[in-house]
Amino acid sequence: MSIVELYAPGTASRRYPSNWHALALSIRHAAHLKCAFPGCQARHLAVGYWDGAQFIEAIVAPLGERLVRVLIAAAHLDRTPATADKEQLMAFCQRHHLWYDRAENIVIKRSRLKSLSYELPHIPRS
Ligand SMILES: [Zn+2]
Repeated sequence: MSIVELYAPGTASRRYPSNWHALALSIRHAAHLKCAFPGCQARHLAVGYWDGAQFIEAIVAPLGERLVRVLIAAAHLDRTPATADKEQLMAFCQRHHLWYDRAENIVIKRSRLKSLSYELPHIPRS
């Protein structure tokens, strides 16, 4: 099964272990609801903005910066959603989760964009 087929819309419940919610919760709590990515200290539900690699908690973002809320989720280090091995799971904030899975995300996004594309009709000139 290709990565594109694996991540097809509507297949999430088939990709993850049946106890995924409890498993993900245990990983997040074991990390004290903080991102475990090296150097990141972002806390679950904290509000603030990113200053380079540093998350700054704040109620107002500086001009040009975007205020965000951190969500901590369990990430698969082996990039295999079916994995239930706790050694292969780590609590990441959404920024580092997306960064860690960026190669797969690019493949999936390109595939979805390709499926949306169509050939332009030929319009004869008069
Ligand atoms: Zn992080």
